[in-house]
Amino acid sequence: MTTFLGCIADDFTGATDLASMLARSGVNVSLRIGVPLSTPENTAEIEVIALKTRSISASKAIEESLSALKWLKEAGAKKYFFKYCSTFDSTAEGNIGPVSEALMNELKVDQTIYCPAFPENGRSIYMGNLFVGQKLLSESSMKDHPLTPMNDSNLMRLLSAQVSRRVGLADRIVVNSGVNSLKEKLISLKENDVPHVIVDAVADTDLDTIASACQDMDFITGGSALAMPLAEFYKASGKISANDNSFMNKKLNTGSIILSGSCSEMTIIQVKNFIQRGAAAFQLDPIDLAENGVKKVLDWLSSQDFTKNIIIYATSDPDTVKKVQAELGVDMAGKIVEQGLSECAIAARELGIKNFIIAGGETSGAITKALNVRQLDIGIEIAPGVPWTFSGKRNNQIALSLKSGNFGSEEFFTEALNKLENL
Ligand code: ADP
Repeated sequence: MTTFLGCIADDFTGATDLASMLARSGVNVSLRIGVPLSTPENTAEIEVIALKTRSISASKAIEESLSALKWLKEAGAKKYFFKYCSTFDSTAEGNIGPVSEALMNELKVDQTIYCPAFPENGRSIYMGNLFVGQKLLSESSMKDHPLTPMNDSNLMRLLSAQVSRRVGLADRIVVNSGVNSLKEKLISLKENDVPHVIVDAVADTDLDTIASACQDMDFITGGSALAMPLAEFYKASGKISANDNSFMNKKLNTGSIILSGSCSEMTIIQVKNFIQRGAAAFQLDPIDLAENGVKKVLDWLSSQDFTKNIIIYATSDPDTVKKVQAELGVDMAGKIVEQGLSECAIAARELGIKNFIIAGGETSGAITKALNVRQLDIGIEIAPGVPWTFSGKRNNQIALSLKSGNFGSEEFFTEALNKLENL
């Protein structure tokens, strides 16, 4: 299929989130991890390229984003979407503004919109200010983020510092007045030489209005929530087809494993829940891994009955994690666990396991890399933003579900396996 919509996401789990929102429209969505090395073939109507450009230097982020754009152009894309986090995660330099400006120049577009709102998850924009639940962004936990602390909630101020041209606002009053009023506002801003427009949204209906008003723009930027109605409009107007959903219906192969390196609150509950339901479980001890390697866990894995539920996890409560980090160092502790779980994943695949549920954003990145997974077909959604995905050709195909941090319900692992079984 020729690609219609080409998307560039600035991080890996953000790309998965975007891909699953787009797939809700029933259109085939393909996710590429990094810019593909070869020229486009077997492309889907919607292609998403996952980059890791959120907190690297602006110049490197621009270079990688332009290379992703080049590939998407070759795939035939007619429209483009740049996806970033719903909390507008950026460093002082960018990289949202610089990347967006570079993509606009390359695509020769003279205006775009910025709408990170995700009302379903409590991210809303009012009068250009971003809220997380009832708190301003700068008063939310994002103020303490280790890589991209957000100390200002005003998107116009944040973006103005990142771009060379003017930033304007289409506020909630305009959006609430409907599609035509938003279109008129965008035209008047364009006439006043404002290429960068923040658009307010506090509810899903606002996103519908924005998507409807902006569906003809060649380049749009925002969070994953805006992409959802956008895909619906493309479908309704016949720009993408409604009848090829072959990515959704892949069958379950036997053998499933859960690999968890996430220590987020929800993952701790999910792991506990799965073990209580009778899964065979092996807890990795990072200090033991550092000293003795993975032999113990691999021996355990090879002795398991693969028709039963299996989980290998390093997931621990914050105090235990702190103790491990004090002994090994934060980076080293993370690396050792990621490496250990990656070796488990490779061994599991060699033992014939076909279905992998991976918990943790960084952990997912490490394991997909170890399994040499470069492309994923987006399948059925398990929880908001977490789909089953499929990788590889016929006999070598594996199913992967990549769940970051606090996503999913308490019974996520069981739900994920049930979803696959019932396809
Ligand atoms: P999340 O999506 O929940 O943030 P990540 O996988 O992105 O999860 O990050 C969790 C990090 O913690 C990973 O680098 C992982 O290797 C590391 N980690 C997991 N278990 C432990 C542990 N018991 N001690 C120290 N670090 C751990």
